[in-house]
Amino acid sequence: MSKEKQFVTEITPQGEDFSRWYIDVIKKAELMDYSPVRGCIVFRPEGFEIWENIQREMDRRFKETGHRNAYFPLFIPESFFQKEKEHVEGFNPELPWVTEAGGEPLEEKLAIRPTSETMIGHMYSKWIQSYRDLPVLINQWANVVRWEKRTLPFLRTSEFLWQEGHTAHENEAEAREETMRMLEVYRDFVEDFLAIPVITGQKTPSEKFAGAVDTYSIEAMMKDGRAVQAGTSHYLGTNFAVAFDIKYLDRENTQQFVHTTSWGTSTRLIGSLIMVHGDDRGLALPPKVAPTQVIMIPIGPPKTREAVIGRVDELYKELKTAGVRVRVDDRSDISPGWKFNEYEMRGVPIRLELGPRDMENGQAVLVSRASGEKRIIKQSELEAEVEKMLEEIHRDMFEKAKQFRADNFHAVDTLDEMKGLLEQKRGFVLAGWCGSAACEKQVKEETGATSRNIPFEPAEHKHSCLVCGEKAEHTVVFARAY
Ligand code: AMP
Repeated sequence: MSKEKQFVTEITPQGEDFSRWYIDVIKKAELMDYSPVRGCIVFRPEGFEIWENIQREMDRRFKETGHRNAYFPLFIPESFFQKEKEHVEGFNPELPWVTEAGGEPLEEKLAIRPTSETMIGHMYSKWIQSYRDLPVLINQWANVVRWEKRTLPFLRTSEFLWQEGHTAHENEAEAREETMRMLEVYRDFVEDFLAIPVITGQKTPSEKFAGAVDTYSIEAMMKDGRAVQAGTSHYLGTNFAVAFDIKYLDRENTQQFVHTTSWGTSTRLIGSLIMVHGDDRGLALPPKVAPTQVIMIPIGPPKTREAVIGRVDELYKELKTAGVRVRVDDRSDISPGWKFNEYEMRGVPIRLELGPRDMENGQAVLVSRASGEKRIIKQSELEAEVEKMLEEIHRDMFEKAKQFRADNFHAVDTLDEMKGLLEQKRGFVLAGWCGSAACEKQVKEETGATSRNIPFEPAEHKHSCLVCGEKAEHTVVFARAY
């Protein structure tokens, strides 16, 4: 078997074993490697650049909505966690502790932050005195640690990279408005930049953030039908304000507790975009987030090579000047066929081929990674054609993912119906729910599916609980989740 064939067949087909496909792809595309520490991964440059692109665009959107970045310490004193009861109960099992440093036991042990509400609450209590100090709109880019029992690269790791927004407001209405604003920032970013359609909605009480009054999420469907919680936005009420004594003098000169919010997305987004768009040939990266958007490959016999490469370099400069992330692979010891496979596997959205005949005709060939579509274009219109194709690829990838979700979304009336369905099919299930934790738990025990959220816009409203048959308080999306 030739080298190029072997290369591609090393990826397990999705239909055979989706989890193995995922690991094969992220390793072969050199996005990550396992580390010697349990549950922690190394982000290799190909993977880290995806994160950098996510960061840059999200950061721009946070700043556009009035937020500024700051940085808070990695270590959090134990006593801080004791102050908010639900928070400590929720996070205690996942906390790693530092008990000794500089060769001596510490007076108070320090947690490695799993999230920073406590530390930031402590600081806000010093910074906020009057209504004039509000709102406080801060975001932090950082690493956090949660000692997860089950881990999977990017999607669930013990240490992960994320952003956490923390805001404080005069009253409930403003804090709730902020909570929804940031959920919408997430929705728009994930759909517009990562081409991943999401379901926005509210978490049920059992799935909400430890210490929150209400949690909202965006949920995405992976190609095996499982769900990923791609981002969360929390209205924290005065829970952390009371715990950390964050008070201000209001306009009537009386002391009030602030209302706070927090919201987060993580390197889990990288795993999501791989599982939503990838296929048996490897990664397929949406154009806006792809570290390389166009790979240029000169082709043809040795005698025309120099001339072809000369022209490729000129076109390269044109695209680069236009702001396209473009690279040239002009290695002469590797065949074009091998390169085609390689960049398909790495998910580069557009391949540009240029050979001697294209030179004569003033043309170039563009090939879409996502659809395989080939376009012969005029070199004189290269920039416009590439930009148009990148836009079309984004739209097609989004539509395809949306169609996949629609094809794998089923509404049911009873738990038995749901069980039967999930035995045969993958995907999300829409059902009525009475609001009791017991019914929700039973769904989980009998199907392995958890409530993802109560969607703001369900495809239909269900009127009775799938478990007990009583009146449905909500229509809920259930799914097996990562
Ligand atoms: P939370 O603070 O629990 O609301 O988490 C905020 C976001 O971080 C979640 O919506 C996930 O997208 C992400 N996240 C939570 N736990 C992990 C983990 N172990 N690994 C990667 N991402 C995570």
